[in-house]
Amino acid sequence: MTDTMKAMVVERLGPPDVMELRDVPVPTPGPGEVRIEVEAVGINFADVLAVAGEYLTRTKVPYTPGMEFAGIVESLGDGVTGVQVGQRVAALGGSGALARYSVVNAAGLIPVPQSLSGAQAAAFPVSYFTAYHGLKTLGRGVAGEWVLVQAAAGALGTASIQLAKALDMKVIAMASTEEKLSIARDLGADVTLLQDDEERVQKVRDAAGGQGVPLILEVVGGKRFQESLDMAAGQGRIIVIGNASREQANLRPVELMKRNLSVTGLWLTSLMSDRAATAEAAQILSQLVGSGQVTPQVGPTYALADSARAFQDILNRKTTGKVIIEPQR
Ligand code: NDP
Repeated sequence: MTDTMKAMVVERLGPPDVMELRDVPVPTPGPGEVRIEVEAVGINFADVLAVAGEYLTRTKVPYTPGMEFAGIVESLGDGVTGVQVGQRVAALGGSGALARYSVVNAAGLIPVPQSLSGAQAAAFPVSYFTAYHGLKTLGRGVAGEWVLVQAAAGALGTASIQLAKALDMKVIAMASTEEKLSIARDLGADVTLLQDDEERVQKVRDAAGGQGVPLILEVVGGKRFQESLDMAAGQGRIIVIGNASREQANLRPVELMKRNLSVTGLWLTSLMSDRAATAEAAQILSQLVGSGQVTPQVGPTYALADSARAFQDILNRKTTGKVIIEPQR
């Protein structure tokens, strides 16, 4: 083991190219922590926002981005039990994964079926737990019900389609290109629609039996949020998960009254502290992944030195599935 390693470092917030490849000390696991040789980092829209300083929480610099990853446990800090050196794990830390090694609290480790590759394991936690909470915990979706999935070919979108179909729900998928819609159809989406289709509001309402959609996973925000209100069925549930447009949305609560709509926010980070909800999601997801009913969708894969390009490709809407960075190459 050498003393230094390659890592991406952010010293000032801004566009993706503020990230720099540096040599930094290999971190040492403290009590309760493990050091992991990082195989694959799943890049989320949240990582892009964090580097830009536009995330829900303040980004403190300097820092190494990367909140979701998978790798092989390489050494254990004092007092760690239940984890073996050599085991493949996925992990959710706040940051620090865009590096050859990363240290996380053992409590943040997520056991993954050993059938998953490192890249598949890194594509799993954020998107699938979020999709589960959107569809079930907060969305209260039931078999046979329609759900609208936006940005359907993205990391969360592909997870949401797969999971909704595994739960016997019916999916309307929206995305910006025909190629993306074809990915959604391959995953089982029942109806697909271009995001810029001029008649999209009416078409979505018609697709869901003319009454509108009972459940919407809203990730675009801005003026699209208003459209979600128009697409929703009476008593519809709109789960606000993201704001990829980075535009502000207007909500006049009185508009919700007319059709008894509800709008619920979802942030995975804070939901993780709900032990019962997390345990339920973990149990169902590991069963579905283990049986092959859902498979994390690995998207384009980049070397560590190309991290800025990976982030920029997400911003430019060029990617599908989960963008992966492999720090060992
Ligand atoms: P994706 O892989 O889905 O990439 C983002 C996608 O957003 C793009 O591919 C694009 O799809 C769509 N998009 C729509 N409008 C824009 C825009 N103006 N600029 C860029 N992209 C746009 O990313 P993630 O799966 O990581 O995240 C998807 C959304 O879910 C994000 O808003 C993210 O913040 C949110 N999220 C929230 C979580 C939470 O805990 N609340 C957890 C996980 C994700 P298209 O071209 O088809 O429109």
